[in-house]
Amino acid sequence: MNKIEGRTALVTGGSRGIGRAVALRLAEDGADVVLTYEHETERAAAVVDQIKEIGRRAVAVQADSADVAAVTAAVDEAAATFGRLDILVNNAGVFVVGPIEDLGPAEFDRTVAVNVRAPFMASRAAARHMTEGGRIISVGSNVGERTVFPGFTLYALSKTALIGMTKGLARDLGPRGITANLVNPGPTDTDANPADNPNADAIRSFTALGRYATPDEIAATVAHLAGDGGRYITGATINVDGGFTI
Ligand code: NDP
Repeated sequence: MNKIEGRTALVTGGSRGIGRAVALRLAEDGADVVLTYEHETERAAAVVDQIKEIGRRAVAVQADSADVAAVTAAVDEAAATFGRLDILVNNAGVFVVGPIEDLGPAEFDRTVAVNVRAPFMASRAAARHMTEGGRIISVGSNVGERTVFPGFTLYALSKTALIGMTKGLARDLGPRGITANLVNPGPTDTDANPADNPNADAIRSFTALGRYATPDEIAATVAHLAGDGGRYITGATINVDGGFTI
């Protein structure tokens, strides 16, 4: 029996990139998966098909993380679809960077809504469904710990908020046997940060390993936390960043 067989997971932003890799890995490890997405209906459907080929159940739900009602409904739908909810992965995120002069109230509100408010609201909604052994895993960023380039004030602000949220959730939900952890990826080859972008060599040079991560490498740590290996880890921030933050 797989270590998370019989469990169900909700992965926000599961149509592409890191979220897609997490959804597929959790399915390979035995979970049924609900994934959310914003625009990419066909790509979300393709991930659902891949999960079904693995032999697990899967559903894609269109839900803009900036919309509190949509986020909460997606959590409730995930629990209703499979009759339980064991694992929440707060992955969906927006990457709004630029000179601070260009980052106004609209950019602030959008970033905080998607990167901070949605994980908080989803965690709150998921906690209502979870029982002993529940797992809340959020995806932060290495720039929450080491901000090497200008232009990252808003994005780093939003990702740093998840460190405090994770510690608070660990205290709030620990007595119920539910863990909360944060995975901070380093540069990872996705649409948001392609390994061949013009700044990629500079980004790579800040890692000890001298390369980008693949989405699978981030998903491996999420899967570890979601499975038996994560039983006694809570409130932690885990850098999966090739040494970017050392
Ligand atoms: P991508 O841009 O490749 O994918 C983003 C995913 O999130 C897509 O599934 C997208 O859906 C979904 N999404 C975006 N906005 C919303 C929204 N408002 N509502 C619902 N879904 C949304 O990103 P990555 O895979 O690179 O990033 C995933 C996470 O990892 C993010 O939180 C990011 O900040 C973090 N991260 C990434 C790093 C990197 O180098 N790639 C480094 C550090 C952290 P759709 O397909 O429908 O648009």
